[in-house]
Amino acid sequence: MSKIIKTEAVVLSKLNYGDSSSIVSLFTKEYGKLSAMLKGGRNPKSKLSLIVDPINYLEVIFYNNPSRDLQILSNADIKAHFPKIKEDLDKLKYAHSVIELVKNLSVEHEVNKKLFSGIVRILELMSDGKENPAVSFGRFFLFFLKELGYEFQLKKCASCGKTNLAGIELSYNYEIGILCNECSINYMENVTVNPELFHYLNCLKKNESPGVVNPDVINGAVTFLENYLKHHVSDFKGLQSLQMFKEK
Ligand SMILES: [Zn+2]
Repeated sequence: MSKIIKTEAVVLSKLNYGDSSSIVSLFTKEYGKLSAMLKGGRNPKSKLSLIVDPINYLEVIFYNNPSRDLQILSNADIKAHFPKIKEDLDKLKYAHSVIELVKNLSVEHEVNKKLFSGIVRILELMSDGKENPAVSFGRFFLFFLKELGYEFQLKKCASCGKTNLAGIELSYNYEIGILCNECSINYMENVTVNPELFHYLNCLKKNESPGVVNPDVINGAVTFLENYLKHHVSDFKGLQSLQMFKEK
């Protein structure tokens, strides 16, 4: 039996279906990630087809039938459409990276209100905040890893327990965690974490301002987190959005 449901949602993707419809992936506040059919969703004159578009934050009404893979979207109202993101390629690239992570790595129908609020908050920050969107994305990436169950630990050396790690050369072993310079020789396949990257990751984790950071460190941190995620989730091949928007 279908039930009419109203909830908040962020649009993750939209694909053409048949001659006139679309299939959308939504991350909803109360029902987690789900797919829905938008009948007539490709009609350019339809208000719904304009509203139901990736990155938009909506209030949606749909017919929910848990025995079906695809729900039927019947109506939507806009809560935020983040125009400042859409007019800035750099912001757009990182906003797409946020929704790409959620689309590919969150579990269908798994409710996570904290993640839902986190997505809305980071899109608002990217839209209206003054922060470099790459830094905002780094904050989201660390938060998202924690929600996935792969939290980063940076407080102490994972081997000897040494706590004062600032300002020294460190390394990271994807299985074990952060390692001080003395312990790193005991493990294979470590990634170097220089003091700047360590400081930056710590600021992101504690939600503090990192101050002025070299762009190489900001980009290096994203690559580092991508590799960390690839190590834990074999299906994850890296962020396509970052490749798609790469400057030529
Ligand atoms: Zn150590």
